[in-house]
Amino acid sequence: LIRLRTRLARSQNALGQGLLTLLSRDRLDEDTWEEIEDTLLTADVGVGPTTELVERLRERVRVLGTRTPDELRALLREELLAIIGTDTDRSVRTEGGVSAEGEELPAVVLVVGVNGTGKTTTTGKLARVLVADGNSVVLGAADTFRAAAADQLQTWGERVGARTVRGPEAGDPASVAFDAVREGIAEGADVVLIDTAGRLHTKTGLMDELGKVKRVVEKQGPVGEVLLVLDATTGQNGLIQARVFAEVVNVTGIVLTKLDGTARGGIVMAVQRELGVPVKLIGLGEGPDDLAPFEPEAFVDALIG
Ligand code: GDP
Repeated sequence: LIRLRTRLARSQNALGQGLLTLLSRDRLDEDTWEEIEDTLLTADVGVGPTTELVERLRERVRVLGTRTPDELRALLREELLAIIGTDTDRSVRTEGGVSAEGEELPAVVLVVGVNGTGKTTTTGKLARVLVADGNSVVLGAADTFRAAAADQLQTWGERVGARTVRGPEAGDPASVAFDAVREGIAEGADVVLIDTAGRLHTKTGLMDELGKVKRVVEKQGPVGEVLLVLDATTGQNGLIQARVFAEVVNVTGIVLTKLDGTARGGIVMAVQRELGVPVKLIGLGEGPDDLAPFEPEAFVDALIG
């Protein structure tokens, strides 16, 4: 929590502190409620969740009457958590399966998202966490579109002790993904993480490419997770990207990166509410340790200080 707080604090507390200050005003008139709304919108909470949150806060504050700072903090904490949702399973599934022939299969995790959002970095960081937890990991460099992506992933792999399967430059991403899973099965790996290319040129192009990767992987066994990486600094744009991806593949979890570089942490709430897919991991920097499980309570506590 301390690390989360210092990481978010650099730019973030605008939201939590701003709300607490506004809610502490002696008179909560229309103008103040509008300011509260603006604060939420500026932090990328999104229109729907903002309206909902303001309505709930108004009602709670009305019932409460006079407010002590502690009561306000508790109330805001509860309502932010109600928007995010606290009873969702946010674990990354790493149980493998068994093939029809009784062969043990690794858990396959596809990492998808638009280039530049932090896909490769997230794949590397996740590999590190999984290896530290005692899993053997194989990496698949299926982002054959960005020339440096495979090298970047391999560097992560060497650092954490995971083999990287790669193909020829500009080769077929699906064939790299297939090879990575085959390699994972042959090695008896626990988890195969596949970094994919996120060219959002057209929806059909994306659908063809990602759909093929998924189909090819599924020839060898089930895909456990499809993690969509979203850059928190792109705000509502990220949400639009997310909707397109969600139409193309069955996204099972969101990784929200670059939360260290934005005052717009409200995107967590927007993503949660508007996509209905759990945020599972958050990126808090470029370093190997800067990937954290998303824990709503810790996040909200860090937000409101
Ligand atoms: P990809 O094209 O989606 O694979 O993106 P990369 O993994 O290459 O990341 C793009 C840039 O974002 C790199 O400079 C990363 O170091 C940086 N990055 C990734 N995750 C985070 C994060 O959580 N915080 C910060 N500040 N930078 C990040």
